[in-house]
Amino acid sequence: MPGHRVGNSKPRIIVIGAGIGGLTAGALLAHRGYSVLILDQALVPGGCASTFQRKGFTFDVGATQVAGLEAGGIHHRIFTELEIDLPQATPCDPACAVYLPGEQTPINVWRDPEKWKQERQRQFPFSEPFWQLMAALFKASWEFQGRDPVLPPRNVWDLVQLTKALRPSTFITVPYTLFTVGDALRAYKLGNDHRLKTFLDLQLKLYSQVDTEETALLYAATALSVSQLPQGLYHLQGSMQVLSDRLLEALEKKGGTLLMRHTVEHIEVEKGKVSGVVIRNQKTGEVWTEAADHVVANVTAQNLVQLLGNKAPHGYKRRVEKLPPASGAFVIYLGVDESAIPSRCPPHLQFMYNAKGPIGNNNSLFVSVSHPGDGRAPEGKATIIASSFVDTKQWWVSEDYEGLKQQYTQDAVSRLSKFFYLKPETIIHVEAATPRTFARYTARDQGIVGGIGQRISTFGPFGFANRTPINNLWLVGDSTHPGEGTAGVSYSALTAVKQIEAQKVARYGIT
Ligand SMILES: Cc1cc2nc3c(=O)[nH]c(=O)nc-3n(C[C@H](O)[C@H](O)[C@H](O)COP(=O)(O)OP(=O)(O)OC[C@H]3O[C@@H](n4cnc5c(N)ncnc54)[C@H](O)[C@@H]3O)c2cc1C
Repeated sequence: MPGHRVGNSKPRIIVIGAGIGGLTAGALLAHRGYSVLILDQALVPGGCASTFQRKGFTFDVGATQVAGLEAGGIHHRIFTELEIDLPQATPCDPACAVYLPGEQTPINVWRDPEKWKQERQRQFPFSEPFWQLMAALFKASWEFQGRDPVLPPRNVWDLVQLTKALRPSTFITVPYTLFTVGDALRAYKLGNDHRLKTFLDLQLKLYSQVDTEETALLYAATALSVSQLPQGLYHLQGSMQVLSDRLLEALEKKGGTLLMRHTVEHIEVEKGKVSGVVIRNQKTGEVWTEAADHVVANVTAQNLVQLLGNKAPHGYKRRVEKLPPASGAFVIYLGVDESAIPSRCPPHLQFMYNAKGPIGNNNSLFVSVSHPGDGRAPEGKATIIASSFVDTKQWWVSEDYEGLKQQYTQDAVSRLSKFFYLKPETIIHVEAATPRTFARYTARDQGIVGGIGQRISTFGPFGFANRTPINNLWLVGDSTHPGEGTAGVSYSALTAVKQIEAQKVARYGIT
């Protein structure tokens, strides 16, 4: 017998996946009166924003810093609606300390806008007009996003929401819709400023998966400005898991259910409309079909097509197949003695090295360091988590996977040793995750992370919609607008919830 049956008096929603996108959608829908069942194949909820424990250390699996906690920010808005407490957090200041190859002092991305302005003017003379353009585009885009547009629109209701979010100020962004960051740099005669370009490449890749030449300018304006007040990035007290825990609390308070270790194997479609899902209970092996009025898929676009099988619409499938290859991540998790950490170490650093090795010369390590009392390490100890982008393919074809993982681990430790005091006597725990690890624990196709990339062809108006071509099947998460990050996927979830509600109102006249 199935472990759960959703009630039949309220519209029934099944959410596939308890990442931040799925939990947010599920909690909001339960709060708005739907009967919600969330299924996740993993052991703990949170997906790329979950955690694991080793030897008294708590490691954040992927996401380590959070945007959208400020008043009016997306997590703040959603937690307020759900009537749950926002997690305790400390602002990241600097948001990131960026070390360019061969340089000993970092470029500090300060939280205070004036301090950041002085820093960038010192670091990148003559670039201020470019930053002013970014600030103007950010202001217009941020206000627009705050009015909950539906992007890309797929029907009249979506178009009306999009139109309602427009203001005369939004139109300043329109001429730049097809600009990349590289185009803007050239327009300001900064195309040959190698140092600025390297800095931007490093920072943009973290948010958009691609570099200055490919990142859509309008997306970059937000990514590069969100770390300053009145917005800002935060380090959560305890661990990243607290976000999922609070959302789960809200879901259950309103009668919703989460079943872990339950894999959705197939999405059922009848006459162009979703009808339910096929579920496998991993513990018992039992397989059954659960009917639903709506299915919200918190998976990658690639996984969605696989779950639909031969019911995947041809054009949609082709579009997914034609996407440029998505990135994977190699992540190293170190539990260390606090003597390994230099004094006054910022919480987030980014290093690019002139170094040979498996990680590559043109790649960076993004590093998050715990601080005393933040709940991640026992007293006198600390965690260091470092991630770099990798091509997923080599991890699947390698005949010596363990050997490759070992090489990457050694290379990462050797690179990190240039900044941290990493010796056998200071390293207490070492563990690494590869695309194969992410595929196993988050079920993401090939272990890809971070969404479809914010190129011109895939960002905002040109990206994947929450509304899929199958009626009542919704896609949420980092494959959709506005892209990766816990804040991004929360916007995506909120949009899908509003679309589902609008359909209920239209059909049943319920308000
Ligand atoms: C190394 C790394 C560092 C990052 N750093 C940051 C950061 O500092 N700040 C930030 O905001 N973001 C960061 N991100 C990005 C962020 O973590 C993700 O964009 C976001 O968490 C994705 O959330 P999601 O809800 O879209 O999906 P996911 O987190 O992928 O969750 C999907 C869930 O669905 C489940 N699932 C999938 N398929 C099925 C199925 N068929 N049946 C049942 N369950 C299924 C999975 O088990 C998983 O729990 C980082 C990501 C990585 C990998």
